This record gives sequence, structure tokens and C-alpha cells, in this order.
Amino acid sequence: MATVSIPIAKPLLGKEELKRVKEVLASGMLTSGKLVKEFEESFRRYIGARHAVATFNGTVALHVAMLSLGIGEGDEVVTTPFSFIASSNCILYVGAKPVFVDVDERTFNILPEEIEKAITERTKAVLIVHIFGQPCEMREIVKVCKTHGLLLVEDCAQAHGAEYRGKKVGSFGDAAVFSFYATKNITTGGEGGMLLVKKKSVAKLARMLVDQGQSKKYVHSVLGYNYRMTEIQAAVGLEQLKKLDDLNEKRRKNAEFLTKALKDVRGIETPYVSPHVKHVFHQYVVRVKRGKRNSLASYLRARGIEVAVHYPKPIYKQPVYKKLGYGNLFLPNAERACKEVLSLPVHPSLDRSSLLMLAEAVKRFFRS
Ligand SMILES: *Cc1c(COP(=O)(O)O)cnc(C)c1O
Repeated sequence: MATVSIPIAKPLLGKEELKRVKEVLASGMLTSGKLVKEFEESFRRYIGARHAVATFNGTVALHVAMLSLGIGEGDEVVTTPFSFIASSNCILYVGAKPVFVDVDERTFNILPEEIEKAITERTKAVLIVHIFGQPCEMREIVKVCKTHGLLLVEDCAQAHGAEYRGKKVGSFGDAAVFSFYATKNITTGGEGGMLLVKKKSVAKLARMLVDQGQSKKYVHSVLGYNYRMTEIQAAVGLEQLKKLDDLNEKRRKNAEFLTKALKDVRGIETPYVSPHVKHVFHQYVVRVKRGKRNSLASYLRARGIEVAVHYPKPIYKQPVYKKLGYGNLFLPNAERACKEVLSLPVHPSLDRSSLLMLAEAVKRFFRS
């Protein structure tokens, strides 16, 4: 195996973040305090949402989203099977049932017409994922939810700053969740999350749930958790947020470069970008045709280029879901995507020569 010369992801942390972290450590105020408040307020304003609750990671923010919206036992939640597993695990955490529907062939995002077909009298919510940084078809999805009186939850873990018709994702749903894990468009230093909600009452409950169910000091009104964000995470997040638009711009430029360089390569399809959206390219995902995906991946890895398969299986095919009885489900677009997708490096620290090297390597594979 060659040493990695082009990694698939690289967090960009600089002296600004380091300075803020040192200040926090020196202050001795380490737990949820004024920087967490400040980060919640800045992030909420950046997205254009009403209320924000910072959390330790994105997965627990999803859990609290479900709980604070009152989703639970007996409820069905329509969602996508083509995602990172956390987006549907949160439905199981609260005893509700994920109902998987198929995705669009070009964007890999959940299909609004499939959502509508899956609605029953038990359906309580729709949980969508703006996969790889590309917004879902929000006009249609919001309409379906309104028509049927359903709650809408947005998983924006890969889509910080992405826009649909000029409006940022995370501002459409009754709740929206972001992740600041190390590889995401911005990080709070390894782990971190944010929950945005529309209603004040939901925000109030969510804030209690992340803090041991406390309504007042040592008054525990509901069964809560310790899901709080730390001051160190918030300090890093505040600096990263200032850089987000620039970092996304670099991702978009890198994607544009790759798409231009690869557009005539027979054997792969470059990412489709829908009209009316601003795609923030958390991942640059190509489709590799004719069963060549795994051999292209090995070829690139052997040349020091790190690539990844997001995702090798629809969520319902994961062992934990098979055991729950999802084993016979077959959603053709999701299944085919799992066989063909390959994520190529697109992160902001790639320079021109790395991008050229990457594009050349892909072309050489298809020539040989
Ligand atoms: C990363 C991710 C999550 C989970 O976030 P963590 O901060 O890692 O817990 C949830 N959903 C999607 C789609 C993700 O990509």
C-alpha cells in the first residue's frame, strides 16, 4: 500500500482556534458557559433559525430532536436509507419506526413523491438528509409535510451553509441537526453538534433534555441526559464558523475543477447539481459504471489517493436493521447507488497539483 499523499478529509484548524482553546484552558471555565451561548447564537443567526441548542455531537442532537418533538412509540418516521446510519438510529432510540423510501438517482436525496406514497395514519414525521452537501427538494417536501400535518426534521450534518432557492438548509424544518465531527465542513475539534428548532416550547424542552432534564438548578423535571457541548468545543466552533463560507467556496471550486477534468471520461458520472441549490460538497461523489467501482478504488489507493465508499449498503441492509425485519426491503435506486458510488477527495486544503494528479489518475485507470 502506498503512503497516503492525498487524504480524503483534512480538518483545517489554525492559530485562531488554538488561541481560543488556550484562553478557555487558562480561564478554568470548561463546561457549558458563555462561549456555548455565543456559538449557539452565531450559528442560529448564520442559518436563519429561531432557536439553537448546542450538543456534544450530531447523533445526540438527533436523539434530542426526536424527543423534543414528541416522536415516540407507535409513530412512523419516513426517511432515507442512503445515509450515515445515525440519521435513522435516532428514530429507533425513541421507539418509533423508520420507514425507508427510495432516493433520486441523480442527487441521492430522498424522493418527495416516495415520501407521500409511504404515509399512513401512523406517520408522525419525515426525516430528510441533505446528502453530501446537496439540499433536498425542499419545496415539494415542505408541501407534503404541510398537506399531511407531519413534522419535518432536517439532518444537515453534511450541509453547513448549503442553500435551497437562496435559503439555508436547517431553516426549513421543525428541527434541524448539524454535526461538527472532524471530517465535516467545519469542526468543533473532533466532535460536536447543534440542534435548531422553530418553536420556543420545543427549544425549552430540548435545552432541559441535554442538561440532565433540569428546569432549574437541581430540579429535574424530565428524564434528561448529559449531552452538553463544552466551552472548548464552542471556542473552536466560533472560529470555524467565521471560515465556513471560504471553506465551502474552496470545496465548490475543487468540485468544479474535478467535474471539468473528468466530464469526458467514459465510465464515470460526475456529480449532478440540481438547479436552485448551492451544493457545499461535503463529499464529491462519482458513479463508477460497469462494476468497476472497487477496482478504481484500489487503483487510486495504491497511488496514495484516499477514496471512500459512502455508503456500501442501504441502512436497512445493516445487520442491526436486518434483525429488526428490514431484510426483505429492496429500494432499487439506493441499492444501485451503493454499488456505484465513490467519494474522491474534494476538501479545502487540496492544491491544484493534487487535483491534477487525482484527475490524471482517474483518466489513466480508464485508459488502461
Ligand atoms: C456525521 C453524520 C451524523 C452524525 O454526526 P456525529 O456528530 O458524528 O454524531 C448524522 N447524520 C449524518 C448524515 C452524518 O453525516
